[in-house]
Amino acid sequence: MVRVAVVGAGVGGLTAAIALQADGFEVDVYDQAGELSEIGAGVSLGGNGMRVLDALGLGKAVRDVSANLQRIEFRHGKSGDVFYQHPMGAWYEQRFGGPFLGIHRADFHQLLISAYAGEPHLGRRCVAVHESPEQVELQFADGSTAHADLVVGADGVRSAVRGHVDGADEAVFSGMSCFRGLTPVDRVPGGDRFGLTFFLGPNRHVVAYPVRGGELINFVAYVPDPDWTEESWSARCAPREAVAAFDGWSPVVTALLGNAEETGRWALYDREPLRNWSTGRVTLLGDAAHPMLPHAGQGTNQAIEDVAVLTAYARNRNVTLKDALRGYEQLRKPRTRQIQLGSRANAACFQVPDGPLADERNARLENLPQMVGWIHEYDVYAAMATGSEA
Ligand SMILES: Cc1cc2nc3c(=O)[nH]c(=O)nc-3n(C[C@H](O)[C@H](O)[C@H](O)COP(=O)(O)OP(=O)(O)OC[C@H]3O[C@@H](n4cnc5c(N)ncnc54)[C@H](O)[C@@H]3O)c2cc1C
Repeated sequence: MVRVAVVGAGVGGLTAAIALQADGFEVDVYDQAGELSEIGAGVSLGGNGMRVLDALGLGKAVRDVSANLQRIEFRHGKSGDVFYQHPMGAWYEQRFGGPFLGIHRADFHQLLISAYAGEPHLGRRCVAVHESPEQVELQFADGSTAHADLVVGADGVRSAVRGHVDGADEAVFSGMSCFRGLTPVDRVPGGDRFGLTFFLGPNRHVVAYPVRGGELINFVAYVPDPDWTEESWSARCAPREAVAAFDGWSPVVTALLGNAEETGRWALYDREPLRNWSTGRVTLLGDAAHPMLPHAGQGTNQAIEDVAVLTAYARNRNVTLKDALRGYEQLRKPRTRQIQLGSRANAACFQVPDGPLADERNARLENLPQMVGWIHEYDVYAAMATGSEA
């Protein structure tokens, strides 16, 4: 039996482990954390990611703990007035072939841990990868080692495995940080009507949507911040700091940010698209392969698409492992690169000054379903069948 070591028990690593186990691989998962937990924040899942979760048999469990977003709205940050609205819900599902959901990261993570048949090895920070033609040795910070036929580096934006595959590279700071939190729906005026909601203004914007069946509203509030460079999942701050950064904005925004159960803050980084994702027996997946800014809401969805392609190529016993990994990388690279670069461009577009530039952007929103269609309607299984990348 082929032994697989997955480094990283985030959404990407756990989904890969579940899919590879279903295909008969012997899978061990290693994570640096002493205890597995997720931050208090939400994540959005689109039709493209849900197609894969459905194929893995996880779709129902995901739907059961999510909120199905019924509309997308763009609102003026200061007045709170809606200037663009479009239905989602059933419309989105019919157009893009799957639902658009908001899910609490902890709920998602928990259901993936339950679906993985085994216990992740915790407190195992990978510090080196030694590859020979026969196998791979992983070396951990505690002095222990593990051996596998195939290693999947799903160890996030600061991946250690990536250094083995593509050499050292530099994280690119976006010059922006974000406040992030969850607010009980009854503490937000009109909160029960929230779908995927954007509040836009010069130099800053807020994205909010319900999670956990609509009980909580997740928000991410983006501000320019060249001095804040702590890239961490656990930097805490007081809700009043977020409120102060949006001084003069709509009372809906103030209530959303000010009534959060807890607020986190961190700087936003991505990396340039990688030249190589794989060697003979080691490959990358999710943020380790294509860390992207969150402005397209696609990092998790792309990690999930990666899983479908990696498992399909890895199960093909008619090709060598090296060729399988090359095939995976070749199919995934162009699409993830395009989304990585598009995510950078979206931030600037969301935060243009009021006036002609904002008017032009708002007029273009009429074409939003066509503009984002290539991301959301993407059928990774059809792409594999035809070998098409886009
Ligand atoms: C503000 C914000 C909002 C976002 N919103 C969305 C959204 O709405 N939709 C969406 O699709 N995406 C969104 N994303 C992106 C999404 O969060 C990431 O793309 C996703 O979490 C990547 O998953 P991953 O499993 O690849 O990496 P991670 O979730 O980062 O998991 C990596 C795991 O590897 C472990 N690890 C790290 N280094 C080591 C090591 N050396 N040894 C062992 N273990 C290690 C870590 O402990 C962690 O458990 C957002 C991101 C941000 C910052």
